[in-house]
Amino acid sequence: MSTKCIFCEIVRDPSSSVVVYRDDVVFAIHDINPRAPIHLLIIPVQHITALSEMVGDDELIPMHIARVAEEMAKRQGINEHGFRLVINQGKDAGQTIPHLHAHMIGGKLLGDMG
Ligand code: AMP
Ligand code: ZN
Repeated sequence: MSTKCIFCEIVRDPSSSVVVYRDDVVFAIHDINPRAPIHLLIIPVQHITALSEMVGDDELIPMHIARVAEEMAKRQGINEHGFRLVINQGKDAGQTIPHLHAHMIGGKLLGDMG
């Protein structure tokens, strides 16, 4: 947990209404600045900054994120049409929040990855 991290703050506050999915490993929220009709962030409960920080059992987290993305796509009714699942890591990828998270984006025909 990091005291100055917005994602740690959101998951710590159980009354937070923005959390649309939660289990022991990850939680999901709607992105505050959606780039598509469906834009969720799937976030490990644990404060992890980079993929390389995952050791031991943490290595299961990316697969769990994928499973939750699939489940959320079903709930949002876009599973048949497809979605994009992206992790921005580091400056060149445009990571702005240093708490690892995956973007689940869909609900329209997505363009090429830039
Ligand atoms: P990234 O650029 O991969 O670090 O993505 C960070 C994402 O978090 C951006 O798409 C922001 O719009 C989103 N974001 C920032 N603050 C919040 C917040 N309080 N609630 C939901 N999404 C947020
Ligand atoms: Zn955090």
